[in-house]
Amino acid sequence: MTNLDPRSLIAMAGFMSAVMAVVLLFMRRHYPPWIHGVGAWAAAPVLWLVSTVLFGTRGFVPDWLSLILANQLLVLGTVVYYMGTRRFMGQATPWRLWNAVMVATTVVFTLLTYWLPHYALRVGFFTLVMGAIYGAQLRFMLRHGGNGFPVRMVEVVLVLHMGVLAMRLASILSGHAGEHLMEPSLFQTLYIGAYVLTVLMLSIGAVLMATDRLRTELEHLATHDSLTQTLNRRALLEHCEDELERARRHGQGPSIMMVDLDNFKAVNDHGGHQHGDAVLAHFAERTRQALRRGDRLGRYGGEEFLVLLPFADVEAALVVAQRIHATLATGHPLDCEVSIGLTSWTGKHETLDSMLSRADAALYRAKAQGRNRTCVD
Ligand code: GH3
Ligand code: MG
Ligand code: MG
Repeated sequence: MTNLDPRSLIAMAGFMSAVMAVVLLFMRRHYPPWIHGVGAWAAAPVLWLVSTVLFGTRGFVPDWLSLILANQLLVLGTVVYYMGTRRFMGQATPWRLWNAVMVATTVVFTLLTYWLPHYALRVGFFTLVMGAIYGAQLRFMLRHGGNGFPVRMVEVVLVLHMGVLAMRLASILSGHAGEHLMEPSLFQTLYIGAYVLTVLMLSIGAVLMATDRLRTELEHLATHDSLTQTLNRRALLEHCEDELERARRHGQGPSIMMVDLDNFKAVNDHGGHQHGDAVLAHFAERTRQALRRGDRLGRYGGEEFLVLLPFADVEAALVVAQRIHATLATGHPLDCEVSIGLTSWTGKHETLDSMLSRADAALYRAKAQGRNRTCVD
């Protein structure tokens, strides 16, 4: 195997960093501000790019530029990337700690360049520092990252790069550190090649994580009511149609509840519209807790909600209705009374329209009989 010239590899790393910096800066500009961390993710490849350019000038400019600053910008870029990940996942960014790390490593690095110039020691120290940052980021992501594909991909990249760093450390400890960075040895090629790939994959990982988040949030916005965080009418009716479709295949259908808050005009009149909003949100939260995993709660309109209970017959649905009445009568200041119209699937000829009008009729009867009760049709 012929070894690639380290200088070309470093140029490649610079090129990757530049491209990814452009992509991430674009995303930072055009993605909604509630996706946090993209700014830091965009800053990382910029720092890596400057670091790479400085590495490339090794031998032509003073050591403090091409060595100390180049190394420290690489370290800083990696820290900034980690902080971006923390911000993205809604966690604190302990900059005070990492500033201290940056200062301390700069001091050690300067000492190992001017006071005790020792290539192997320097490389060993740098390898340990990078490994520690990757390790901190990996630990964090395993704890807070969930298991989406982009997160898993970044974790794998971190593990692989830590493996390469461990090999590099082993080669240093066994006296194979080499003489200088630009030495075209197998280890050097492997190490710098891994760095190029990592720069690329971490940036792509950031793009994918942000895009995944955007997609999820937009999907949520498109299907949920912003006040109560329940399904909106369109999404809810879609779920109902899907459920009826399934019922026709399996011969076992859902129950549907139409829930309307009692005397809600009076609630608004006495407490104000904002208080009314708070009551609606409270109602939704409590009701959601009274439901099973597969059940769906949606806002049908105004202060009227619909509950879809898959595979529930009248008896099972009545139990849920009683749970809803009970959970809204606990003495909480935002508690309210509701009337419920309940209906169950009657067979394969059933349509959503007919179920909805039966539920509506049952609700009407519940209101007529004095409210705060459930009627079945
Ligand atoms: P009933 O027991 O017969 O259902 O009496 P009601 O007062 O609840 O009857 P009605 O359906 O006529 O009143 C519904 C009220 O709900 C009217 C409307 O102002 C209020 N409302 C609808 N949507 C919202 C909302 O998003 N926030 C607030 N605060 N009020 C809302
Ligand atoms: Mg009402
Ligand atoms: Mg109403």
